[in-house]
Amino acid sequence: MSYNVAIDGPAGAGKSTIAKAVAKSMNLIYVDTGAMYRAMALYMLRKGISLEDTEEIIEKCPQADITIRYENGVQVVLLNGENVNEFLRTEEVGSAASVISPIPEVRRKLVELQKNLAAQRDCIMDGRDIGTCVLPNAQLKIFLTASSEVRAKRRYDELVQKGVEGDLSTILEDIKERDYRDTHREESPLKQAEDAVLIDTSNMSAEEVISTISRMCRESREQ
Ligand code: C5P
Repeated sequence: MSYNVAIDGPAGAGKSTIAKAVAKSMNLIYVDTGAMYRAMALYMLRKGISLEDTEEIIEKCPQADITIRYENGVQVVLLNGENVNEFLRTEEVGSAASVISPIPEVRRKLVELQKNLAAQRDCIMDGRDIGTCVLPNAQLKIFLTASSEVRAKRRYDELVQKGVEGDLSTILEDIKERDYRDTHREESPLKQAEDAVLIDTSNMSAEEVISTISRMCRESREQ
């Protein structure tokens, strides 16, 4: 049986940074499920489909073939055979992903892909519904969070580092809106699994979080 770690939490909690580092130290593959929803959103944006047109999205969803490959340990998302990694991290695509992710047909397709990956490989998978829905039997579940202000500031600093202009109050608003959508949707809302460990990273450094979770991984793997 494969060894699986589930990390859930709101946007900007640091899930991907933490999960990537823990994957490296624990020799696991890192599965970024948000990238799959982003790839689906990118497909709809490129086709010019209105994000409000749920019926059209459901109809077009089977035409977006999303597959995952690993190159030197890095996840590559293929959309109908094209490597789309470089197009996924914009605010536009992230917001669009959170608008289409409540659609059950979209979720069913991507959850199946995620379950298959986790059944085949030892992995750490991050998202919103991993502990509650995708991997209910994961050996370790973490719910990673931080205050919305801290998360907005981290996003802002990231943009500044990349030389991109950003407005802190707009980012905070966007984070709050996305939190609301992710926690209030009917289909697989973001919530902490009963058996998940809650880690609030508001006052922790990335190194502290990485070493805490790596230690938990070692302990749960030994059991
Ligand atoms: O984590 P990331 O910001 O890349 O996710 C983009 C959007 O995809 C989230 O706001 C959320 O709506 C959706 N998502 C989801 N379930 C997951 C991962 C992401 O609904 N497992």
